[in-house]
Amino acid sequence: MLGKIKKFMLDTLFPVSCISCSKPNIWICKKCLSKIPLINNQVCPFCEKAITPDGRVCFKCRKKYSLDGLLVASSYQNELVSSVVHYYKYRFVEDLSLPLGIILIKAFLQSEFPIPDIIIPVPLHKRRLRWRGFNQAELLAQHLGENLTPGFNISVESNFLTRYLYTHPQMKIKNYAQRKKNIEGVFKPEKGIRKTIKGKNILLVDDIATTGATLFECARVLKRNGANRVFATVIARQEMK
Ligand SMILES: [Zn+2]
Ligand SMILES: [Zn+2]
Repeated sequence: MLGKIKKFMLDTLFPVSCISCSKPNIWICKKCLSKIPLINNQVCPFCEKAITPDGRVCFKCRKKYSLDGLLVASSYQNELVSSVVHYYKYRFVEDLSLPLGIILIKAFLQSEFPIPDIIIPVPLHKRRLRWRGFNQAELLAQHLGENLTPGFNISVESNFLTRYLYTHPQMKIKNYAQRKKNIEGVFKPEKGIRKTIKGKNILLVDDIATTGATLFECARVLKRNGANRVFATVIARQEMK
């Protein structure tokens, strides 16, 4: 609710125009959107050193982690990408889920990730959801579910994982080990989920990843409950400041 009020006030105070070229009445125009570069050299999400196809987990890291790969669509170093993400995430501009969704789809279709059976957005704790007014990952997941495979929708399951512990927002925790600890055991699988996800390929969706600890933890829970492959995709990966 508070998020909605904030958004309304911002819309009234600052009329909408393209974040990049100021074209009126649109948050990001088609031309500027098409200029956003996709990342060609994807790396293993864990060591961030090995260059791997589509951001698959490298041979060395494979044994230690549950996530099979993280496709990072674009770069946070790109000014337009960081502003769009910022408007989306912190200024509650819900409408940006559309152009951001388009970027995710473009990146996914260039990859050789398997078409997922199920798409799962990284869940927010209900307290944060109330504050923000929408789950930014869920809107992106819905866009993917409806547009990734023309002709049929992929099911988007927002309740398969619940974030039942309130944690400090990851951005505020600088140390990797501490972040990992902060996130362990935070997600609870829905009751009876095993029957539905057993043997299925799942795509996790979030807006940005920093250390990736949240995605790794979600993947761990899903694999423990029978998922076959768990891939993830985000708009960009943000360096820790
Ligand atoms: Zn523009
Ligand atoms: Zn690696």
